[in-house]
Amino acid sequence: MDHRPRVLVIGAGIVGLCTAWYLARAGAEVTVVDRAGPGEGTSSGNAGAISAGSVAPLAMPGVLRDVPKMLLDRKGALTIPTRYWPAAFPWLWKFVLSARPERVQAIAQALASLLRGAEDRHLEILEAEEAADVISHQGQLYLYRDRAHLAKDDAAWELRRRHGLDMRVLSRSELLELEPEISEAYGTGVFLPGQSHSVNPLRQSRVVAGGVERMGGTLRRGTVTALVTEEHRVTGAMIDRAPFKADHVVLAAGAWSAKLLAPLGIRVPMESQRGYHVMLPSPGVMPRRPIIPADRKVFLTPMEEGLRVAGSVEFGGTEAPPSPARSALLLEDLAKVYPQADTREQRPHWMGHRPCLPDSLPVIGPVRAWPGLWCAFGHGHLGLTGSAPTGALLAAAMLGPAPNTDLTPFGVERFA
Ligand SMILES: Cc1cc2nc3c(=O)[nH]c(=O)nc-3n(C[C@H](O)[C@H](O)[C@H](O)COP(=O)(O)OP(=O)(O)OC[C@H]3O[C@@H](n4cnc5c(N)ncnc54)[C@H](O)[C@@H]3O)c2cc1C
Repeated sequence: MDHRPRVLVIGAGIVGLCTAWYLARAGAEVTVVDRAGPGEGTSSGNAGAISAGSVAPLAMPGVLRDVPKMLLDRKGALTIPTRYWPAAFPWLWKFVLSARPERVQAIAQALASLLRGAEDRHLEILEAEEAADVISHQGQLYLYRDRAHLAKDDAAWELRRRHGLDMRVLSRSELLELEPEISEAYGTGVFLPGQSHSVNPLRQSRVVAGGVERMGGTLRRGTVTALVTEEHRVTGAMIDRAPFKADHVVLAAGAWSAKLLAPLGIRVPMESQRGYHVMLPSPGVMPRRPIIPADRKVFLTPMEEGLRVAGSVEFGGTEAPPSPARSALLLEDLAKVYPQADTREQRPHWMGHRPCLPDSLPVIGPVRAWPGLWCAFGHGHLGLTGSAPTGALLAAAMLGPAPNTDLTPFGVERFA
């Protein structure tokens, strides 16, 4: 190729943006297309946690035991509406199969290879864009009722610890030294001093987008309706019914990625795990770091614009409207940790789509059957964390120097 490689990135979520950033830095002529503005989808509303040590997959051994509860508990952290059971079942079955012990070890190994150094990759981008203040380095704090409650998560913590996570189990008094206002419901905690968080995920996305433009890349609005192929190669995409030609196309369309792959005969078991947040501009309490009460599985994250209570996992696809009852539950979760929180002032409740694959691994890398096509999607609950390292990895795989990380576990071919 005697010209700068022309790359089209589909999706201006945090994954597409970080990928575009690294591609632009490596000298590619990059265009990012999205039907919305940079980061305005799922990537704007997450809990902000940058959790490089979160290498335990969602499906851990014993998950089969939990499935009936998942299906029947309307107020649980995870819910699947009855009408959605038939659609969810094939995905859930693959999810349960991925919980076999040897698979869990392999998944954790792959996640560790991707996420190791995630914070450094984020800082590499943000420092270059003079916005390192987007990331706060105060650690993260998980809360448990007592030691017996903590013991239920032993296997997942042990797996993370073996992959290098710095974790400290705290007594109630140590916990209060870190966060003095936590309710009596929690007698112990796990402090992760090396983990960090974004104080404004939307600003972070916009900063990365600005960096892409600074390096000569283009951001454009438009809806991609199809990938364009010629002689068994992907050569571009249809944007608002007009063809756009590129040497390489990166599919980073989050929960919508599988739909664009299907016409090429590639089936990906993508499921949206719909999540919610409530933003409280003046809650009267403010932790210094993300607080995660383990019994409620929500994040209470201090952000530039207030306290964000984010969480909930709801199956139901990308088309159904949000369920106000789910976001209302987040306020009950908050009250368990901070009964004194003032919730009178609330921003409109938000919902987004975590792009989830049953084995908790994203799809990253070239599509062997379709030269010219690359994937960067499916980061599930860890898309903010995984975005910058994914971008670095994908740019290196495409333009060199070849990365040390083995991309095989992330290949789309694993679903064939
Ligand atoms: C409540 C909640 C809390 C979370 N907390 C965390 C956390 O603390 N830490 C963490 O690491 N992760 C977290 N996540 C997960 C994280 O937010 C996601 O994994 C991540 O945002 C996915 O990024 P993405 O770029 O792949 O997708 P998206 O942000 O969804 O971006 C995809 C983009 O593609 C565009 N698009 C799709 N189809 C088309 C098309 N045909 N044409 C044009 N454009 C298209 C969409 O408009 C969208 O902008 C959380 C998620 C939720 C919902």
